[in-house]
Amino acid sequence: GTRRVLVTGCSSGIGLAVAVRLAKDEMKRFKVVATMRDLEKRGALERAAGDTLSRTLEIRPLDVCCEDSIRECVNSMPERRVDVLVSNAGVGMIGPLEVQSVREMQDLFNTNFFGLVRLVKELLPDMKRRQSGHIVVMSSVMGIQGLLFNDVYAASKFAVEGFCESLAVQAMKFNINLSLVEPGPVITEFERKVYEEAQNMDLSGTDEETARIFCEIYLPYSRKVFSSLGQTPEEVAEQTHQLLVAKNPPFRHQTNRLYTPMTAMKHADPTGRLPIDAFYKMVFQHDRVFNASLGIMRLLQRRTGKS
Ligand code: NAD
Repeated sequence: GTRRVLVTGCSSGIGLAVAVRLAKDEMKRFKVVATMRDLEKRGALERAAGDTLSRTLEIRPLDVCCEDSIRECVNSMPERRVDVLVSNAGVGMIGPLEVQSVREMQDLFNTNFFGLVRLVKELLPDMKRRQSGHIVVMSSVMGIQGLLFNDVYAASKFAVEGFCESLAVQAMKFNINLSLVEPGPVITEFERKVYEEAQNMDLSGTDEETARIFCEIYLPYSRKVFSSLGQTPEEVAEQTHQLLVAKNPPFRHQTNRLYTPMTAMKHADPTGRLPIDAFYKMVFQHDRVFNASLGIMRLLQRRTGKS
């Protein structure tokens, strides 16, 4: 039968694209409840949804930071049935630690980590009772490998990964699937928002050298990564759709094959030196090494065939 899907953070980016892709499934296998914190931002989703609106896609309010809002949304569904949860809502944060307040860091964890925890707490008991369900979590390659000036964001995605890895074994016992989708850079509002914040950032709280590294090395490096490796939200949505219709969905799925050599380094060296050295070279000897590594990644991609 048709599976009822709840997606969070659908006013833009990956969440919007996933909701629309599932609603447009050729075999009409999904009924999508696309949720967002602020319904006034529904315009882009409505336009993208086109004639699936009110057929296979409905828009409802949901704030992942508010338990009542989650419960209200789930209660509004027939028999409270959610077969598939796509936990996507998330926020980014870049910059030197010294200029970020603990309060801001807690807010980020409240969305990126506790948002997922709240959703799972609300839905898991029902899924266990029905002995079915699929929880799909929008993680990140930064849930596997950290990146400088992304300390707190990466930590929140590591938290997400640890939570899911632990829960996966219990979920399996109840016939519930759990999958982490790990995109590399994706061109969305997310990127625009973090750069905008970086542009207006008061860097007086940190030393000159750190401020210089952030502005003159990290930011241009990061832009280059986005423009050369960046995927569209539609590509991530397509792969999320494939994962949801797969017979045996993977626990982890990286969406960007150009990025996999970066995360593979971690498993290649138990001392942890390899990825840290590699990232150091990539960032601080960026022009030469970055272009070389990009070349190698392209070569690897061609070798391994399909993209
Ligand atoms: P985005 O900013 O376009 O979308 C994030 C959405 O989450 C927004 O619509 C925002 O309004 C919503 N949101 C924020 N707080 C919320 C809350 N409390 N309740 C409900 N919704 C809330 O960015 P995106 O790139 O589409 O990000 C989606 C997910 O993908 C995030 O979890 C992000 O960490 C992850 N991700 C993004 C990238 C990237 O490069 N863009 C890479 C890897 C992973």
